[in-house]
Amino acid sequence: TGWVKDRVALVTGAGSGIGKAAALKLAANGARVCLVDLTEQRAGEVKELIEAQGGEAIVVDTDVSDPVRVQSAVELAMKEWGRLDVVFANAGINGVVTPIEDMSPEEWDHTLTTNLKGTFLAVKYAIPHMKKNGGSIIITSSINGNRSFSGFGMSAYSTSKAGQMAFGKMAALELARYRIRVNIICPGAIQTNISENTQKTPELHKIEIPVKYPEGSQPLEHKPGSPDQVADLVLFLASDHSSHITGSEIYIDGAESLL
Ligand code: NAD
Repeated sequence: TGWVKDRVALVTGAGSGIGKAAALKLAANGARVCLVDLTEQRAGEVKELIEAQGGEAIVVDTDVSDPVRVQSAVELAMKEWGRLDVVFANAGINGVVTPIEDMSPEEWDHTLTTNLKGTFLAVKYAIPHMKKNGGSIIITSSINGNRSFSGFGMSAYSTSKAGQMAFGKMAALELARYRIRVNIICPGAIQTNISENTQKTPELHKIEIPVKYPEGSQPLEHKPGSPDQVADLVLFLASDHSSHITGSEIYIDGAESLL
């Protein structure tokens, strides 16, 4: 039973937040899941949770910006299960939040490389294996890819998220002939660990930030969304229930982007 029964899914950033919730939900709905994250530790805990609910998972510690490691993660999933149906290119960082004039070129590169090149690599190395049966690719962008509500200092992040939108649409066009669908999800604020790893610089105070609404406030529920709510969307896009949807940007933000 399950919407993605017997499918094989590769999830990046699977050790935490949205990736973790999506991996658990895909597994609960019948998928076998290759859990990709920087270190084995947190993804290992997700593997244990999946196995405890009767599912199957493998863990691959991989920096998504490393072509050799990403390719080998895909190969490991193929070796284990012989097919690949779903890629959730989700790993991402906020990077250093600082005004453009204070952003170091290295910080810019690190954010772009992780978020944008990481997405490209996961898609690139999956294609040869997904071509045969078709499949579904889901990319985690953000509402910040289109506009930057409370996103001052996030020029590199927003640029990477806009890049993911453009890349996802090009991929949808290019891969339609293989019946590989590609969709881009754009969450608003979601309750995860991402801000723990976010460094805000003192220079941010140089920018006068006009706050219309408190950060994270969303008209629908007046609080950030949950990773599980995003996972429901990922499951839908991974499954055949979305068989005519490709190249779409789907907002999941409780109307935050309309503020
Ligand atoms: P998170 O920090 O809880 O989880 C991200 C995971 O990605 C972590 O486990 C981290 O180790 C992993 N990761 C980071 N860099 C990596 C790399 N180079 N290689 C492999 N793994 C790496 O964050 P989250 O909120 O779940 O973020 C997931 C995605 O959602 C990101 O792309 C983020 O930009 C996007 N997003 C989040 C929000 C939000 O409010 N939380 C809003 C919009 C978009």
